Amino acid sequence: MARDLTLPGAGEAKTREPSPNPLAGLPSVDRLLGERALIALAEVHGRLPVKRCVQAVLALARERIGNGGVAPGESELVAQVALAIARDQSPRLRPVFNLTGTVIHTNLGRALLAPEAIDAVGQAMRDYAALEYDLARGGRGDRDVIVEELLRELTGCEAATIVNNNAAAVLLTLKALAAKREVVISRGELIEIGGAFRLPDIMKAAGCKLVEVGTTNRTHSRDYENAITDRTALVVKAHASNYAVTGFTASVDEAEIAAIAHARGVPFVVDLGSGALIDLVRFGLPAEPMPRDTLAAGADVVTFSGDKLLFGPQAGIILGRRELIAKITKDPLKRALRVSKLTLAALEATLRVIASDHRLPERLPVLGLLMRSRDDIRAACERVRPAMTRWAGEDFEVRIADCASQIGSGSQPVERLASAALVISPRGKAKGRLAEKLEAPLRTLPIPVIGRIHDGALWLDLRCLSEADEARFLANLHAEPTSC
Ligand SMILES: *Cc1c(COP(=O)(O)O)cnc(C)c1O
Repeated sequence: MARDLTLPGAGEAKTREPSPNPLAGLPSVDRLLGERALIALAEVHGRLPVKRCVQAVLALARERIGNGGVAPGESELVAQVALAIARDQSPRLRPVFNLTGTVIHTNLGRALLAPEAIDAVGQAMRDYAALEYDLARGGRGDRDVIVEELLRELTGCEAATIVNNNAAAVLLTLKALAAKREVVISRGELIEIGGAFRLPDIMKAAGCKLVEVGTTNRTHSRDYENAITDRTALVVKAHASNYAVTGFTASVDEAEIAAIAHARGVPFVVDLGSGALIDLVRFGLPAEPMPRDTLAAGADVVTFSGDKLLFGPQAGIILGRRELIAKITKDPLKRALRVSKLTLAALEATLRVIASDHRLPERLPVLGLLMRSRDDIRAACERVRPAMTRWAGEDFEVRIADCASQIGSGSQPVERLASAALVISPRGKAKGRLAEKLEAPLRTLPIPVIGRIHDGALWLDLRCLSEADEARFLANLHAEPTSC
């Protein structure tokens, strides 16, 4: 009783005394870390990440108890820590199923690489490599030489240099060849490509003065002739990547622009965007401009992406006349934009596959996906539909419908590939609950499934689900969702 008289606030304490503090039921951090299961996890992941998860799980438990919940038992806490650590240690760069119908999807990582390229990257990571070492002479070398010979063979160029992506290729080319001077380009080609690639902004960043010629829909050769002065450093043509100008249009072809520019002693640069090194028509696909033809038409420098229709790693390829490429590689910006040995390893291996011209649709996964027939994709839909119907539940109907895939990444925006999709639409009472009931749950599967909402239904174009991946896809549907 003496205690009651001496402790401040003892009267209040006394009234609460009958119910023990529920927080006291929680184990300490150290006690949990001593649990056999968590010792085993610490062996695999390290003590520090496990400790962080223990702290997070205990903090959450305290919060729940504060809100009137009951204290979880020790084995439940251990299970929660195990889940938390699994989530914490899984990569943020997650693999996904791309069922959007866009094959070369910029937000989903563009090209899938050839097995040869994947092996080459592994080797380049494991071992020292002759990256900038001339093995013949025994001294410092040049990393661009690794792919230059192959690019010469594939495009007929004199020289080549590689940077991080095509945006960097355009920026570097403009800066090295035309800083503080004028660049002539057709108004119809002042393009913006998803994200922040806007040609006028790149020109500004490169320190060039943009001279627009012609109108949005029509540009004639006299427009170029009138615009070229002694302040002109370059004439540029950009491939209209993600849109098409149709109707009453006119543009000047590459050979004619080259002739006009060369008559005034001005180099002609073409940004091809996709730049296929394989004639896609041979494989039944829409024609795509090829660097070889553009150079043959008279372009002095051509730029394009490594991870669009070249089917390789992210990179920007700059090809052309030797003295212009030399000027470009001497620019200090080249040092800032150069690629790593991993990119070069993947690019070299991809170019070698292309140069072999041997079993290309099997060896270049993206080419294989682009070539899949509607019948083949429909058959995949038939195989997957029963599981999808069970997964979606009785509130939804799953049917098979024809659709059109896109090549993507600005390649031939108007050309579509005949494909087929599983179309999941809500019945009566589930109307309007697509995003909540289907789209989001698919996105939170261990391997997230990305589709496309169109016309009140979820469309899963199965072009990019290869037959070899179907079993993995089905197992994934039955797995527990994870939070992202
Ligand atoms: C895609 C594209 C670019 C940008 O290339 P990245 O490799 O994405 O940097 C630039 N110009 C054109 C015409 C393109 O199609």
